[in-house]
Amino acid sequence: MLRLHEFRYHRPGSLDEAVALLREHQGDVMPIAGGTDLMPNMKHRLFTPGHVVSLTGAPELRGIAVRDGELVIGAGETLSTVAADARVRRHAPSLARAAGLVAGPQLRNMGTIGGNICLDTRCTYYNQTFFWRQALGFCLKKDGDTCHVTKVGRKCVAAHSADSPPVLMTLNASVDLVSADGERTVSVEDMFVSDGIWNTVRRPDEILARVRIPRSSAGLRTGFEKLRQRNAIDFPLLNVAIAAHIDAGEEIGSMKVVVSALGSRPRAISGLDHIAVGHRLDDDVIDAVAERAHQQCHPLTNITVDPDWRRAMVPVHVRRALHGLVRAEPLAA
Ligand SMILES: Cc1cc2nc3c(=O)[nH]c(=O)nc-3n(C[C@H](O)[C@H](O)[C@H](O)COP(=O)(O)OP(=O)(O)OC[C@H]3O[C@@H](n4cnc5c(N)ncnc54)[C@H](O)[C@@H]3O)c2cc1C
Ligand code: SF4
Repeated sequence: MLRLHEFRYHRPGSLDEAVALLREHQGDVMPIAGGTDLMPNMKHRLFTPGHVVSLTGAPELRGIAVRDGELVIGAGETLSTVAADARVRRHAPSLARAAGLVAGPQLRNMGTIGGNICLDTRCTYYNQTFFWRQALGFCLKKDGDTCHVTKVGRKCVAAHSADSPPVLMTLNASVDLVSADGERTVSVEDMFVSDGIWNTVRRPDEILARVRIPRSSAGLRTGFEKLRQRNAIDFPLLNVAIAAHIDAGEEIGSMKVVVSALGSRPRAISGLDHIAVGHRLDDDVIDAVAERAHQQCHPLTNITVDPDWRRAMVPVHVRRALHGLVRAEPLAA
């Protein structure tokens, strides 16, 4: 049996109290929302904070609303709620789909959208017990100095494994980060960095309070595809989010494709303006976009599944997502 270490559990009744606790115990504290990722990670001794601050008592992190030209989702809303909410399904159906494909039902009932965006990266050599990691001499991300994936260098390439961020990138979403110093807004596009040790620009003393999806995404057609070993529960081996403006004459006005679960951050496929924009979404364009994604994605052995196979699945899932766009309804205004 894996036991938790000793820590003090706080359950503040407001966001202000929560950020004050993060400031007071800086360096020895972590926020917890649904706990579906942090709890197993603490049992594996990947994190051993002396203080854990629950976000479940802060009403500022709850609620879903359409206001001021935005769909606003509180970070504390569960993935089940996000997947089922009529406003999310109407204005951001690819987000509802991605949330509904995270893990399994029990985990979606506990896990939150905020926890999903702040999810730690994952790796075969990291998501293991202390005993297992110790036997291997630990690794760069935690307690050691070698990366067992790259074997060289000082870089961790653990996989970004959350399903909602690639979708949020295609929808031009942003997040509000709150600390004792105040609040700042960061676009989801700028949220992630290619450092598997800490792969976001969020500081440890900041709480993600809400997600904002601009209504300028109205008219977009969107899609999300996910590859995993068991559809009932597993993390992604690969995920693909797509959004495109396609006019009444079926001509593509813009296209964004984001692929994730391969490296430490989601990757926006570049060069689509040349091969897709101004063309109709036909088989030739679909093949060209799928081939472009294949060229730009190079999975590593950061998870157990064969990287060559995961790479071969990139164009398959990009094609699936693009074929879905042909039938998709444009997002409601
Ligand atoms: C078997 C299994 C399968 C899973 N499959 C998937 C999957 O397919 N796809 C996927 O995306 N995830 C998957 N997960 C991971 C997890 O369940 C989800 O990502 C979930 O959304 C995490 O949310 P949470 O509220 O439980 O986060 P927590 O576990 O509470 O927290 C996760 C991290 O985020 C931080 N955090 C949480 N909320 C905030 C906030 N508001 N502000 C700042 N920091 C915050 C915590 O400090 C912690 O570091 C799986 C987990 C398990 C155990
Ligand atoms: S990618 Fe390397 S450093 Fe990062 S968790 Fe895996 S083995 Fe450790």
